[in-house]
Amino acid sequence: MDDRQLQRYSRHILLEEIGIEGQQRISASRMLVIGAGGLGSPAALYLASAGVGRLTLVDSDRVDLTNLQRQVLHSTDRIGQLKTASARVALHALNPDVQVIEVPRRAGPDELDPLVAEGEIVLDCSDNFATRHALNRACVRHRRPLVSGAAVRFDAQLATFDRRVDGAPCYACLFPESSDAQDERCSTFGVFAPLTGIVGCMQAAEALKLAAAAGVTLSGQLMIIDALAMQWRTLKIDRDPACPVCGAG
Ligand SMILES: [Zn+2]
Repeated sequence: MDDRQLQRYSRHILLEEIGIEGQQRISASRMLVIGAGGLGSPAALYLASAGVGRLTLVDSDRVDLTNLQRQVLHSTDRIGQLKTASARVALHALNPDVQVIEVPRRAGPDELDPLVAEGEIVLDCSDNFATRHALNRACVRHRRPLVSGAAVRFDAQLATFDRRVDGAPCYACLFPESSDAQDERCSTFGVFAPLTGIVGCMQAAEALKLAAAAGVTLSGQLMIIDALAMQWRTLKIDRDPACPVCGAG
């Protein structure tokens, strides 16, 4: 790190649990963020401000006026632009050292697989079960930690699925692919703006701790947040030995 970087990251370097070594790990890390919306915005901003080496952003949408209530990567003057392009402008303005890779496509299983293989840490900031399950499969296959967030109305969930940890569950252990759970989209049900900020920031925190090898993560736990009462609780989640995704491994 040069003098300018030592200054930029000095408040992380001061932390005993991160220090120069942890910051160097963060600076060398490759993160994959699926979704540049309500959760992906704060997550990507904090990953970039913290100096991750490479940030790959996957989103097929364009910035819409209804996004701006919470998707803080984007701005009024970038309405109509691809979200990945808008995000790159915001992230480079914040920290030009971060390499931002844009993937302006809706990534299905075939496309997610190589992206997950190239990333070291994966953040699920998507809004639908099809993507969540495809991403989980790829993360299990390539043994990549998956930091999963979801928020709708005043309710949110957060968990880290890290199959490198013995006995740790995967996303499908908790939410089986066979379940008929319906997507609950913010466009239908609404979402409290700062709740997406809270959860996206927590996802960034989990990812940065994983990169720096600091502290412990939410692996094997599910955090449930009620923003209306500002209460949260953490439940233990077990691996399902019969899980069709991770059970054979
Ligand atoms: Zn599983």
